[in-house]
Amino acid sequence: MEVQAEPEPKGEKMALVDTMEFVNGLYQKRNDSHLPIASHICLFFASGGFFLRINRKLIDDPTIRANALASVFARTSTLAIRTVGSKVLSGSHLILGKLFQKYPESGCAYCGNLPCKCEKHRRPEPANIQASGVQQFWTLTEWCQHIRRVYGPNNRKNGIEYVTNQLLEEILEVTMLLEPLIVGERLEDSELVMVAAEFADVFARIFALADMYGVVDFLEDKIDTHYAQCKRCGKRPCECGSIYGHEDRANVLFGPRADSVTI
Ligand SMILES: [Zn+2]
Ligand SMILES: [Zn+2]
Repeated sequence: MEVQAEPEPKGEKMALVDTMEFVNGLYQKRNDSHLPIASHICLFFASGGFFLRINRKLIDDPTIRANALASVFARTSTLAIRTVGSKVLSGSHLILGKLFQKYPESGCAYCGNLPCKCEKHRRPEPANIQASGVQQFWTLTEWCQHIRRVYGPNNRKNGIEYVTNQLLEEILEVTMLLEPLIVGERLEDSELVMVAAEFADVFARIFALADMYGVVDFLEDKIDTHYAQCKRCGKRPCECGSIYGHEDRANVLFGPRADSVTI
């Protein structure tokens, strides 16, 4: 079976932006043709709900947790690239730029400390911190390690439930900002920048949770293997057509079993 050469399936670990493109490259063609934007937003939102359900049921299997986070990562990547890209900058690079700004190598963008010493309700304006060029090459694992360095102590103090709520809140914020697309309107450039910033926050929470659950390696491996080619049609890019033709809607949204990842 022919596997598309670009970007390379991950032997050596890819930079985060390439991982986002790697996942998106599998599904973009199908999504553009067969997945209306409202459904795409719904799938993105549902991935957060699925993750919440795993937490609520206290499912303690690292593979299941990593699968659920991989699903959030994949749906965040595909929706982000689809919605915030412009002629000048791809969606993945726009979001990476926001990650540099909001999560700089030097420490917390708000209090300037490493690790962060912000109270729960931090001040609204970030400190004026220079982004580091090296961050553009960081892998998903390196981003997870970075978020642990900056926010690990706070996150451990607040607990997984609190950080999960933060993830869902960020997903909600993206969803609300994308609402104009659901009714067929376009987003202004200034709105796109805001959406990109919120997508960056979703990614940061995914990194935090992967670290807190101890599933960073599982998550990387899952993305490497699961998103190399479509599990249904075996192709890259996926040629499944409408995803709703294959399974009932509930299965598409949440997976037929807790350990499945559907998109
Ligand atoms: Zn801080
Ligand atoms: Zn397929």
